[in-house]
Amino acid sequence: MQSLPMMGSLVDTFGRRHNNLRISVTDRCNLRCTYCMPEEVTFLDKKELLSFEEIARFVGIVAPLGIDKIRLTGGEPLLRRDLPRLVAMIAAIPGIRDVGLTTNGLLLAAAAAPLFDAGLRRINISLDALSEARFRQMSRRDGLDLVLAGIAAAKKAGFDPIKINAVSIRGITEYEVVPLARYAREHGLEMRFIEYMPIGADTWERDKVFFAHEILETLEREIGPLVPVGHSDPSNPASDFEYVDGGGRVGIIASVSRPFCGSCNRIRLTAEGKLRNCLFALDEVDLKPMLRGNASASTIADAVRANVLDKWAGHEINTAHFVKPERTMHAIGG
Ligand code: SAM
Repeated sequence: MQSLPMMGSLVDTFGRRHNNLRISVTDRCNLRCTYCMPEEVTFLDKKELLSFEEIARFVGIVAPLGIDKIRLTGGEPLLRRDLPRLVAMIAAIPGIRDVGLTTNGLLLAAAAAPLFDAGLRRINISLDALSEARFRQMSRRDGLDLVLAGIAAAKKAGFDPIKINAVSIRGITEYEVVPLARYAREHGLEMRFIEYMPIGADTWERDKVFFAHEILETLEREIGPLVPVGHSDPSNPASDFEYVDGGGRVGIIASVSRPFCGSCNRIRLTAEGKLRNCLFALDEVDLKPMLRGNASASTIADAVRANVLDKWAGHEINTAHFVKPERTMHAIGG
C-alpha cells in the first residue's frame, strides 16, 4: 500500500496558494468554436485519456495539498461517457468541497439530472449567441436549441446559480451582449462575459477584444445601471455587478484588460495527464507515466509542488514578450 503524500500547501514563489484544479476529461468537442480550436483536428486516442480511476487517484493525492475545488472541463466534458460516475468519485474524496462543470450544453438536457444527483452543484454553460446565424458563425455547427434545452434542464434539476459564459469579440459577439444579458435576466441566470484571449487556433488581435469597460457601458446604456458587488474570494476571476433594479448579476472576466494573475489559485490537468500551472504555460509536466506506473503518491505530490513553485508571475498578453502556447484551448481545458 502506498503512503499518503506529506502535507504541504501548493504555494508558489509569489505566495499564491493553489486550491483550484481544472481537469479536462477529453479534448473532443461537438462544436468547433473559431476562437478555441481548428475545424480539422486530430483528437487523442481514447487510450491516451486518463481513466476515471487515474483522475480520482490524482485528486486524492492533491487534496491533502490544499486542492479543494475541482472543475471538470474539456473539450466538451459531456462527450465523456458516464461522467456522473466521475463526479461522484471526486465528490467523495475527503477535502473536496466543490465540484463544478463547464459545458457547451449541447448534451445537457439528458445529463443535468444525473449530474446533479451525482453531487455536481456548480455549472457554467457556454453560450456566445442567441441568434442561430451567429451561433453557427462562432461554433461552425448548429445546436442553439439544444443548448437552450440544456439550460432549462439544468434549472429543472436544481442547479443554482447557473452561469452562462460568453466570449466577447468585437463586431461578432459584441452584438449578442444585450440579447444574452436580457435572456439571463428573464431566466434567473448569471451572465458572464469573458474577454477574448489569444489561446485559440485563429489569429488573435487586441483590436478584436470587446473590452470589459465597453461591455459595462453597453449594458448600462441598453438595460440599466449596475453596481459592483464586493468579493469575499479574491481569486474569483470575475468582477461581478448587480442591476440596481434587482434584475440579477453580471460577471465580467477581463483576462486581457485587467489580468488577475496576481491572485491566481489554479492548476490544470489535461485529458492525457499533463499538468499546467497556467492557462498560458509553455511547459508542462507529464504525470501520466507516474499515474499509470508505480510512482508513489509522494513522488506525484512532489512533482505537483515543483510545478507550482515554477509558476511565473503571469501571462504576458499585454507585452511584446507574449508567446502563444502551442496547445489550443480545447486541448488544455478552459
Ligand atoms: N466545451 C466546454 C464549453 O464550451 O464550455 C468546456 C471547454 S471550453 C474550452 C471552456 C471555455 O473556454 C468556454 O467558455 C469557451 O468559451 C472558453 N474559451 C475558449 N477559447 C477562448 C478564448 N480564445 N478566449 C476566451 N475564452 C475562450
